[in-house]
Amino acid sequence: MKLLEEAIIERGSIVNDEVLKVDSIINHQIDPILMEAMANDICDHYKDKKITKVVTIEASGIAPALLCAMKLQVPMVFLKKSKPSTLQEKAYTAQVHSFTKNSDYTLSGSSSYLHEQDQVLLVDDFLANGEACFGAISILKQAKADVVGIAILIEKAFQKGHERLVQEGYEVYSLARIKKMEAGTITFCDNEM
Ligand code: 5GP
Repeated sequence: MKLLEEAIIERGSIVNDEVLKVDSIINHQIDPILMEAMANDICDHYKDKKITKVVTIEASGIAPALLCAMKLQVPMVFLKKSKPSTLQEKAYTAQVHSFTKNSDYTLSGSSSYLHEQDQVLLVDDFLANGEACFGAISILKQAKADVVGIAILIEKAFQKGHERLVQEGYEVYSLARIKKMEAGTITFCDNEM
């Protein structure tokens, strides 16, 4: 998506060869115009699918997931990175290794909001090694929900997340795919998926 690629170039910064900072548009301050355009693009891509729920992971997935859910007119559920004391009903959990924090956390989601009939669009901000997506998939499997597709704002294609998810049979739609980040320069993949 040209608009996102331009925003990454103009307003993002490379932390190191593997980590991109986009705090001014996605991860801290949010650009609502860009966020809405990204959600529209995602919903357009999945317009022929019957999606009953949008699922994401707190915190940075919430904004794009909510806008997608509004457009699709379905509920949005965000999985939590720790099990809250208010979650008293049956909860599904999965251990996830955080790429940016280099530590593990327990992802959780209530059985009250994830159901067997659900046709889920999974949305997240970044795809690196796929750990967050596989954690969410594990939770959705426990709920016996179907994952219709996985929409990612920024994929770092030089890491193995996309390949791992596709190998497991999931459809991955990424709005911007970064081929490499080297010597302060970001190179995007060609438009092919
Ligand atoms: P994965 O689980 O695919 O290895 O990493 C994806 C998760 O780690 C995303 O949910 C995102 O929060 C975080 N992440 C991975 N790479 C980056 C990055 O380059 N920049 C930022 N800001 N977050 C990242």
